[in-house]
Amino acid sequence: MRWLSRDYAHLWHPFTQADEWERAEQNRVIERGEGVWLIDTEGRRYLDGTSSLWCNILGHRHPKLDAAVRAQLDRIAHTTLLGLTHPGAVEHAERLCALTGLDRVFYSDSGSTAVEVALKMAFQACQQRGDRQRTRFAALNEAYHGDTVGSVSLGGIDLFHAVYRPLLFEAVRLPSPERAEAAEEAACLERARELFAQHGHELAALVVEPLVQGAAGLRRHSVAFLDALGTLARAAGAYVVFDEVATGFGRLGTLFAADQVSVRPDFLCLAKAITGGYLPLAATLTTNAVYDHFRGPYPEYRTFFHGHTYTGNPLAVAAALATLDVIEETRLVERLPGRAAELRRALDAVAHPCIHERRHLGMMGGLVLRGPDGSGFPAEARVGHRVSLAARKHGAIVRNLGDTVMLMPPLVMEAPELHTLTRAVEAALVDVLGASPAADESGLPR
Ligand SMILES: *Cc1c(COP(=O)(O)O)cnc(C)c1O
Repeated sequence: MRWLSRDYAHLWHPFTQADEWERAEQNRVIERGEGVWLIDTEGRRYLDGTSSLWCNILGHRHPKLDAAVRAQLDRIAHTTLLGLTHPGAVEHAERLCALTGLDRVFYSDSGSTAVEVALKMAFQACQQRGDRQRTRFAALNEAYHGDTVGSVSLGGIDLFHAVYRPLLFEAVRLPSPERAEAAEEAACLERARELFAQHGHELAALVVEPLVQGAAGLRRHSVAFLDALGTLARAAGAYVVFDEVATGFGRLGTLFAADQVSVRPDFLCLAKAITGGYLPLAATLTTNAVYDHFRGPYPEYRTFFHGHTYTGNPLAVAAALATLDVIEETRLVERLPGRAAELRRALDAVAHPCIHERRHLGMMGGLVLRGPDGSGFPAEARVGHRVSLAARKHGAIVRNLGDTVMLMPPLVMEAPELHTLTRAVEAALVDVLGASPAADESGLPR
């Protein structure tokens, strides 16, 4: 395979162990896409079970999105928002504000930068309103907010984040429930109350992935839990930041997770699906109350001194506008409950003794794998990883987080493909673990 050997010579892949990558038999070179399918250089087809990393909600080669990007190419590919503006950004910002009830949109390029921008804005707003002691942030245990140094500081996943601790600022770490269960949530809230009592005065903001911690392997909490946390933050005088990079644009069955809760965020971070998974774009939304803390004569230096070169790139914004059009024209959000129920049925239909737990919310699914006796697999067995790779032989691209196999299909995936996808995962489970592995196999699968 020429592409692969040339890849091994020069590419460095994200979140990928080089030794494993260079030896894996199931590496694929994706050349084309078609709706919910990916097609490799050998012409083999795979269901896109990760929405190309949680962003391609409408399918590949969508005619409306393709046309919007082409039309924008005929006008201009890039101009800057530093000291200039462009029609697409104006229109898209108006529409995002109308959809969220927020007032201001600051564009950047990725989920990480959307969070980074919210952090710096919240901090600077506190400084400039005279709350100089508010220099800290509260975040949940097992949180994931991106890979830049600020967003990693908020992160609570040791596997990803521990090595960087000496570089990071220390967040006030709130416990997070693993499942939306009342007793566990009550205990977490009790501890959160203590932490807010102790640290509330020094907090600039609470940052949270609303309703589900995706990268932690789909850890859920209830609407009531999130509302209670938001209320604690508010009472402490801290801003509330919702990181909807994963949950935004329909993933949880509503356009935004915020639509399901009472607490109104002061900041909303959007990225991933914002362009239908076409081009990199992110938005940090906030209120005029926050924006007004940045006004004043120039020599007071209240300006937000932050901006990326490709901030609000017109091609990306054109894809984002077309994404909103398609969501509206196809009544995508109204259709989601039916599709989510179908994903649930497809997950329930996967039969294997190593499925320890099925996690599901909206169009997010996770199969937690353990040995048949309920004990976790040793990390070196790489069970989740091997199951993900094996699924490729059965026509599906999925990814795992540890030993949780994640299913994040495009929001337009219909019932037959949803079932094909989960059947591919089932076949992969049999490939890697056998049909009914004996409990006494020393925990190490073949
Ligand atoms: C993916 C993700 C991010 C980071 O987004 P990137 O575009 O990968 O930088 C941040 N927060 C959440 C909740 C995410 O799922």
